[in-house]
Amino acid sequence: MDRYIPTKSMFIPFKIVAAYVVFGFIWVLGSDLLSGLIFGGSTVVTHFSILKGSFFILLTGLLLYFTIRRVMLRLLRSEARQRLLLDNMSEEVYVYEGLAADGLPGKFIEVNEEACRRLGYTREQFLNMRPSDIDDPSMVDGLHEAMKTLKAQGHVVWEGAHMTKDGRKIPVDISNRLFYMHGRQMILSVCIDITQRKRVQEELAKEHTLLRTLIDNIPDAIYVKDETGRKILTNRSDLEFMGGKDENEVLGKTDAEVYPSYLADQYVKDDMVVLNEGGSVINREEFVEDAAGVRRWLLTSKIPLKDNFGQVLGLVGIGRDITQRKLLENKLLVMAHYDSLTSLPSRALFLDKANISIAHAKRTSMFCAMLFVDLDHFKSINDTLGHSVGDELLKDTAIKLMECVRETDIMARWGGDEFVIMLNDLEDADMAQRTAERIREKFNAPRMVSGHDLFITASVGIAIFPHDGESMEELLKHADTAMYAAKNSGRNNFCFYDGVMNKKVVARMQMERGLRDAISKKEMVLYYQPIVRVSDGKVRGFEALLRWFKEGNGLIGPDQFIPVAEESGLIIPIGEWVLFEACAFNKKMMDAGYPGLIMSVNISVVQFRRKNIVDVIRMALEETGLPPACLEIEVTESVLIESFDAAIDILNAVRELGVQVSLDDFGTGYSSLVHLQRLPISNLKIDRMFIKEIAKDSEQNAMIPAIIDLAHKLNLRVVAEGVETTIQLDKLAGNQCDFFQGYLFSRPMPADQVLPFLKKLL
Ligand code: C2E
Ligand code: MG
Ligand code: MG
Repeated sequence: MDRYIPTKSMFIPFKIVAAYVVFGFIWVLGSDLLSGLIFGGSTVVTHFSILKGSFFILLTGLLLYFTIRRVMLRLLRSEARQRLLLDNMSEEVYVYEGLAADGLPGKFIEVNEEACRRLGYTREQFLNMRPSDIDDPSMVDGLHEAMKTLKAQGHVVWEGAHMTKDGRKIPVDISNRLFYMHGRQMILSVCIDITQRKRVQEELAKEHTLLRTLIDNIPDAIYVKDETGRKILTNRSDLEFMGGKDENEVLGKTDAEVYPSYLADQYVKDDMVVLNEGGSVINREEFVEDAAGVRRWLLTSKIPLKDNFGQVLGLVGIGRDITQRKLLENKLLVMAHYDSLTSLPSRALFLDKANISIAHAKRTSMFCAMLFVDLDHFKSINDTLGHSVGDELLKDTAIKLMECVRETDIMARWGGDEFVIMLNDLEDADMAQRTAERIREKFNAPRMVSGHDLFITASVGIAIFPHDGESMEELLKHADTAMYAAKNSGRNNFCFYDGVMNKKVVARMQMERGLRDAISKKEMVLYYQPIVRVSDGKVRGFEALLRWFKEGNGLIGPDQFIPVAEESGLIIPIGEWVLFEACAFNKKMMDAGYPGLIMSVNISVVQFRRKNIVDVIRMALEETGLPPACLEIEVTESVLIESFDAAIDILNAVRELGVQVSLDDFGTGYSSLVHLQRLPISNLKIDRMFIKEIAKDSEQNAMIPAIIDLAHKLNLRVVAEGVETTIQLDKLAGNQCDFFQGYLFSRPMPADQVLPFLKKLL
């Protein structure tokens, strides 16, 4: 502490006492010598008095010295203690003169070491400065304000900043107090460095901004409530959900003060679970109405907010708007239950409802009817007019069917152009028939669809519960079977199910299914039957005849499967395959040394209806390299029935290719002989029904010479089919028949037997 006592000051008592001693000596010497001289005293007495006086002065001087020294030391030590205190304070402490004329404090009177250390000035430098010299110039206004308050209240606390000698800025909390000493106004100023606090505050502010930005930009509603359920934090989404309220309108409020009671009650209930029990409410789906009256789905979670001791301080709530997801789910649900094109119930919904109907019918002993409705030739509409017209037609069909049934009946689109109807509560089967008749009538008229005048009929199959089946599966299967039967009986028709029909239809359906991949499975094979000249027995050529070796069924004849292939349209790919295969085979024969054989290929009326048949024939010739003259097509009279003129045009085009045309199965059809002369054909094949009769003495027998004669007159060659006996052949030869074909000469044979067969003939 003594380092605070200046050594200089310790000379002061010495100086005072020295002055006192000098003065005392002068006085003693002067007074005693002078009185001896004046009054003539004894020199001894005088000297003794001087000695005594001097001794007294010395003694008192000594006493005085120690007294002053003690007092001074005490004073100086107390002052040193104060300084020590000041200098060891971690705050800057200043004492400066009171407010000057300019309203600002006067010069520094005292500063502590901390102030010198922080600001970089020496104490001496400070004592020549004013506080305004160290204040940050930007806080002049604040300084003036603070001084006004100081003047009025005697003290002021404010936040300012000091500038160090080297120009750094130190933020400080300043506490000023006015006081008086010896009548002088002074100011005590204690300044605390708040650099650290400021930094923390800035960090906190930054974190706060970051967090705010984050939670405000999260699309979920986020909020925090205190333990009384009052909101203490909210985000933008939450405010939006509350109808775009301002944060101040919400903070500090309970849900009861913000939401309608029916919502608030539920919210408060959830809050209680969290606040009272410390539990969580996770992913509760709520269907609510927001402040704007918009109905929304919310997925809400509430989690307790706990302190370090597990005490619940409040809760954090997160609400996710899942309205879009819910809408999508509903849409998918509707899509799963309703057909998007016709808006009729889906299969699944139909089955649900129809099962209920069946159960009801069982209980009440009533009838139900399952109607299977299929549009006739719908595919051709799709193929020729496009799918959009097809779609419109299906929509129109749904409407028309709806008009034919009662509201209590159930209906669905089963797929493609198939519809199913379940007629409920029928008293008898006639009611189902009447509905089917209504459907037939409704569809038996042209209708306008997408600007097209369409005439599309429907075939209906009916199965009655419980007669034709007691389960849904049976009823559907049997109604489907009956529908096929209706189609086979000429379409635009309805048909009730019966057991026999089932077998036929099933067999037919199986055949159709098998035909679809018969070619790719290489089950189709061509047999060849020679056509021979009657006059000399020379082979003119072969007829290609199709055989189907169906897996698991063995050989199936064309009479069985060709009608199914025609009905299903599969004859188109199959017929093309036959044409290419037969041409290729004849070319092979040609290359093997048998040129000039004519290959006869049967062309179905369904193939013929397709306008591109001429192109298909041309391509077959081009690709196989067979000369057109070595190919003949066989068509039946049925090609003429649909459109005589169009058929003639096509036949002419075929002839123009250089390909010959035969009229097959002549005599079984309806065309009159008159037509023959207009037909661009080169051969006539008399059906084997006539040949069978040739040996007998019958009317048919008389027909053959007439047909051959007429044919020759029309410049046609005649081929007799199914010649099995020499008698038949002789008769034909007698009637100048040109060619024959039959078991007598050869049965149809597989391709690998043809060459050996031809060789044998040589
Ligand atoms: P089709 O064109 O009149 O063929 C002649 C039919 O008479 C063949 O029957 C043949 O095997 C049979 N046949 C030939 N000689 C005799 C005989 O002496 N006695 C008897 N009883 N029958 C004889 P298949 O092969 O069963 O063909 C039946 C019909 O199937 C054909 O009659 C033809 O209309 C059709 N067909 C055969 N192959 C094809 C083909 O590739 N395409 C088309 N569209 N139809 C074909
Ligand atoms: Mg034929
Ligand atoms: Mg024939």
